[in-house]
Amino acid sequence: TINLKVDAQNVVSSGLSDISGFENIHLHDFIWEKVGRWSNHTALVCANTGRSYTYGQLRKACGKLATSLRKNNLLSGDTIAIILPNIPEFAIIILAANEAGLRTTLINPTYTIYEIKRQLENADAQAIFTFPAKYIDIKASIEKNSKIKLPIIIVNDGTNASSISGTIQLNDLIRDDIEDFSISQKTGISCEDTVFLPYSSGTTGLPKGVESSHRNIVVNILQSADPIFFPGIEASEHHQDIIPLILPLYHYYGLATMYAYLRIGAKLVCLPQFSTENFIKLFENHRCTLLHVVPPIVQMMTYNERITPRHIESVRITLTAAAPLGEKLITKFQSRFTNDMNFMQGYGMTELSPFVTISSVNTSTLSCGYLLPNTQMRIVNTRDDTLGRNLGPHEVGEIYVRGPQVMKGYYKNPKATEETMDRDWFKTGDLGYYTEDGLLYVQGRLKELIKVKGYQVAPTELEEVIRHYDNIEDVAVIGVTHENYGEIPKAFVVPKSGIKINENKLKKFVAKHVAKYKQLGYVQVIESIPKSAAGKILRKELKNL
Ligand code: ATP
Ligand code: MG
Repeated sequence: TINLKVDAQNVVSSGLSDISGFENIHLHDFIWEKVGRWSNHTALVCANTGRSYTYGQLRKACGKLATSLRKNNLLSGDTIAIILPNIPEFAIIILAANEAGLRTTLINPTYTIYEIKRQLENADAQAIFTFPAKYIDIKASIEKNSKIKLPIIIVNDGTNASSISGTIQLNDLIRDDIEDFSISQKTGISCEDTVFLPYSSGTTGLPKGVESSHRNIVVNILQSADPIFFPGIEASEHHQDIIPLILPLYHYYGLATMYAYLRIGAKLVCLPQFSTENFIKLFENHRCTLLHVVPPIVQMMTYNERITPRHIESVRITLTAAAPLGEKLITKFQSRFTNDMNFMQGYGMTELSPFVTISSVNTSTLSCGYLLPNTQMRIVNTRDDTLGRNLGPHEVGEIYVRGPQVMKGYYKNPKATEETMDRDWFKTGDLGYYTEDGLLYVQGRLKELIKVKGYQVAPTELEEVIRHYDNIEDVAVIGVTHENYGEIPKAFVVPKSGIKINENKLKKFVAKHVAKYKQLGYVQVIESIPKSAAGKILRKELKNL
């Protein structure tokens, strides 16, 4: 165990030794630091088409694209938007933008025209990189008076090679005759300047633009690299880990995974489109050694019999993060994949670049793990009596975090930034508690608490109870308004296929396990629980059902 340091005010500090030396290094320099040691190794390969880049090729393409971007009138601090599936070229574009002193905003390629338009405008995007299948939507989402300076840049993802008139081809921006972006070409960008403008998932409201600096992401990669979290992962020309990029790169978890492993010379296998079929194929073709997932993928791996322990026999560590994982699922997953693989959990968010805690290979997966180095936390009471007081071990309250990974602020939204900060403490909006042995347990979100007659009911607690009822495949609980109680819990359940759930029996089952005010008011059977690609239950959508 790692002993936390808790002071007299119940401010908790990481028990891991502080790291230093992250303050003045730009993201691209940090990623390329050791690239010369493995120039001939494969950096990225597309699981779909097999096209690949070595580290040498990747580095070169980035230098050329950086030059082209500057030549095309993009200036330091300008913002480019990437709207792409997980393909190798994603890495070229984002690293070139980092080097050229540009900011990058990342847009979910499944977004509608309306959603894309909103983010392009909100982020003040000046150039757009996308793929042929999305071109028409992107074109439709650009307003006449938008800030876009360049024709849309099309990335050939291997599905459609025909060129679209009025666009630029990425390939033309990385041609052989273009010179490398040279180190002497100063961009004037400081390590504290914004390098990313990712948007939060929008689980609790509209997605918010998050200003993330070079330093934010560099430090978080170093904080997460402590050998206590990932033993055996080191940079060396003699050893190459193989990591599938299955989580969306537009989300901070996927993005940080890509950066962290490019820095150490690993081989990344990009999965452009997620499906069980593609997942299985990827594992049949590549002997992956590390696996980053979110709870719905854990669920799929656990319950889909076509995925067998053999598929992941070479995996040493699986890390799940981004959404809560039920205890029952953890147990089932572990009993199904009983090889030597370590199964761990991490906790974080877009505003925290993204990690706050990661569990160690020997800790129980039930917890989200240990505070990262250089990070502090306090658990703040949210109940009325002693509002704002810092709580001690085992007491549930709102998690506040302080550390070098805290974002600069919400883009163009000082009011939201102010609301989420308490001096230099970031209020996560999540509920949790810690134990004496230094572990954090996340208990859901403050905003999702259901208020029944003034009592607080956590949906995650009810979901866990319901998962123990027979033949439940998936579940989500929300609060719905109630005449007398204010709110009352409603469960949406997905039965195992071919099975009928008796709603009254389920209600009675829950009633036996929880206090009276937590009892279910309603049960509704549905086909599937709506979730985001990063694994979050879309409770807003359930409210409209
Ligand atoms: P928005 O802030 O726009 O509503 P979001 O908070 O869902 O969206 P993200 O930054 O993608 O956007 O997600 C961070 C949130 O994910 C955390 O605040 C937390 O609620 C949840 N989360 C992350 N990791 C875990 C975990 N291991 N266990 C439980 N919840 C987690
Ligand atoms: Mg959030």
